[in-house]
Amino acid sequence: MVLLGAGHAHVQVLAALAAHPLVSVNIVLVAPYPRQMYSGMVPGFVAGHYTLDDCTIPLEPLVRRAGVRWLQRSVKALDARTQTVQLDDGSTLHYDWLSVNTGPTQNRELLDRAMPGVREHGLFLRPIEAFAALWPKVSALGDTRPLRMAVIGGGAGGIELAFAVRHRLPNASVTLVSGSTPPGANYPAKVQERLLAALKKHRITVLQDTAIGITAGEVRLACGAGLACDVPLIATGAQPPLWLAASGLALDAQGFLAVDACQRSTSHAQVFAAGDVCTRMDRSLARSGVYAVRAGPALAHNLAAATAGQPLKPHRPPQTTLNLLSCGERYAIATWGHFSAQGRWVWWLKNWIDRRFLARYKTGA
Ligand SMILES: Cc1cc2nc3c(=O)[nH]c(=O)nc-3n(C[C@H](O)[C@H](O)[C@H](O)COP(=O)(O)OP(=O)(O)OC[C@H]3O[C@@H](n4cnc5c(N)ncnc54)[C@H](O)[C@@H]3O)c2cc1C
Repeated sequence: MVLLGAGHAHVQVLAALAAHPLVSVNIVLVAPYPRQMYSGMVPGFVAGHYTLDDCTIPLEPLVRRAGVRWLQRSVKALDARTQTVQLDDGSTLHYDWLSVNTGPTQNRELLDRAMPGVREHGLFLRPIEAFAALWPKVSALGDTRPLRMAVIGGGAGGIELAFAVRHRLPNASVTLVSGSTPPGANYPAKVQERLLAALKKHRITVLQDTAIGITAGEVRLACGAGLACDVPLIATGAQPPLWLAASGLALDAQGFLAVDACQRSTSHAQVFAAGDVCTRMDRSLARSGVYAVRAGPALAHNLAAATAGQPLKPHRPPQTTLNLLSCGERYAIATWGHFSAQGRWVWWLKNWIDRRFLARYKTGA
């Protein structure tokens, strides 16, 4: 069995394997970094509330306890017909069972077509490891002079980052370029109101406009204006990994791996997936860390069941989940369906939930 990526669901699969090893199954994990970054805490890292260690799960102890072989590599190609994956060192792995939890990517080529210059001048959020390595350099520069920061992308990630940047760099000018819709457009109207009020309170300029190009020192906007900018942070929506396109696996219209209610590929019975790399074809679910986490136990169960020839269990996550959006300082906005609230207690609740999740997989590290 090959596990691709050490995302939110696979760390739970590794923990389940440590508790209940699969008899007569050789398992290989392919994951490029020595740790898994918990993206929900990345805005807190940017804001300066957390160290990098606070936001990461070291993989070595998890892998050791699970009795899994770990290749610190990236997958570059997948051929579902021959049941092989090709890694970035040119080697090939054959699988009988495959589970994919590699998360989404930011497709530089695609984004550079929509926003020429972004590949050269943009600071991309993904891979999060690369972003986390660069951010301390940006914030150190921001300590020496006021920076002009622009966050491109008005979704939850972009909004949280804008708040976090403002908190870490109080002297910077911070602009959120939200595209054709207002920030947080997929939230209920009351939450959008809360967001706009908080953005205003924190002196974050909101431009409801589309970035169409980036040069050194400037973000060009669709309205014809240029936004002076030292660091354009690219927080636009994520895309499927390129290597899925030619894999032969069934994909959704956007190119994400299509799975059924049991997190199994709709075209290949020996392939499973969870998290942002896949799309449930039986129902519509937001792409989020919350759903990636929730899929973990079901994925672990179904991988064990599949290898033992047992029936699979459908995974039924709730349609509504608690969404907690941090506002830079230790303050956050909570959304549950159409109910919303905000305050310091929401931030502490988020902090408790996030730390509790990580602590579970750091135990014994
Ligand atoms: C700033 C920010 C804040 C966010 N905050 C929240 C939040 O508060 N709540 C929430 O629900 N969601 C949040 N999200 C969304 C959340 O990050 C994603 O939905 C979540 O990361 C998806 O989890 P995943 O397990 O699918 O993938 P990931 O967490 O991305 O994990 C993928 C893993 O696969 C590895 N990998 C990648 N490519 C390869 C490859 N080619 N070969 C092998 N391994 C590979 C990676 O190194 C990583 O270990 C946030 C996103 C951002 C950017």
